Amino acid sequence: MSIDVEDWFQVENLKGVIRRDTWNTRQLRVERNMDRMLALMADEGVRSTCFVLGWIADRCPSLIKRIAAEGHEIASHGYGHDLLDALSPDEFRADIERSKSLLEELTGVEVIGYRAPAFSIKDWSIPILEDVGFAYDSSAFPTLAHDRYGRLNGMKAGQPLVELRPGFHEVCISCLKLGSRGVPWGGGGYFRLIPYPVFRRGVSRILRSGQPYVFYIHPWEIDPGQPRVEDIARGYRFRHYVGLESCEGRFRSLLGDFRWTTMASLLVAWKQNGRSPARRVVWKSSPESL
Ligand SMILES: [Zn+2]
Repeated sequence: MSIDVEDWFQVENLKGVIRRDTWNTRQLRVERNMDRMLALMADEGVRSTCFVLGWIADRCPSLIKRIAAEGHEIASHGYGHDLLDALSPDEFRADIERSKSLLEELTGVEVIGYRAPAFSIKDWSIPILEDVGFAYDSSAFPTLAHDRYGRLNGMKAGQPLVELRPGFHEVCISCLKLGSRGVPWGGGGYFRLIPYPVFRRGVSRILRSGQPYVFYIHPWEIDPGQPRVEDIARGYRFRHYVGLESCEGRFRSLLGDFRWTTMASLLVAWKQNGRSPARRVVWKSSPESL
């Protein structure tokens, strides 16, 4: 289970109308929404990995400490949410170093995981992540069905967890194999759009194949009361706003229907058990009941 801890005005779909230099004037809702998610996860005994944006950690330090104190893994979502395309290697290094040291100062725990903004991971960034002290990335979404998701050399559909370099792993966001294609099945608009029983059956199918299932969500996705931005392209508006009203209920169901763990724990299980930790680690409901 993973959560990208950022606020409603920082998402890529709204970038065209919400300028970066206006972030400080926007209503911060991440703390309230994240506290709600923490309560839902506590109810179900779920531990997650929270990929925290440094910009948020600077403004909500007590929230980050609360997340860590409740047993969730703190990982990095970078500092400024710039797509990797827009950064030079030196700028990227500065961004992840700033975010990593900030999170480690707040929690006193080493940060080993990274997720690129809008999954914009690039091959050139992997050695830099490794050099800065990260042990895994979780940004790849190996599918052709989306215009913006990053891909990495060496990734193949059906390979959910790959050792890209010795000791450095890529933990892919899950896709569901339909024919020869991988359909994104890890969260986002897809999770809010597809009827929940259908989504759950897809998750069960991935788990039955012996793979771990990797899900992601953002705090703003359970917040239908967030300020609405009207003057954006229809496609972006649809992606951002579809299904917000029912998302909290779906999230609660998903938390209860399966057994979840952190990325760091998944990696440990993966290394200890060879190629099929999912059957032991992630399963909760029996296949028949789904
Ligand atoms: Zn993000």
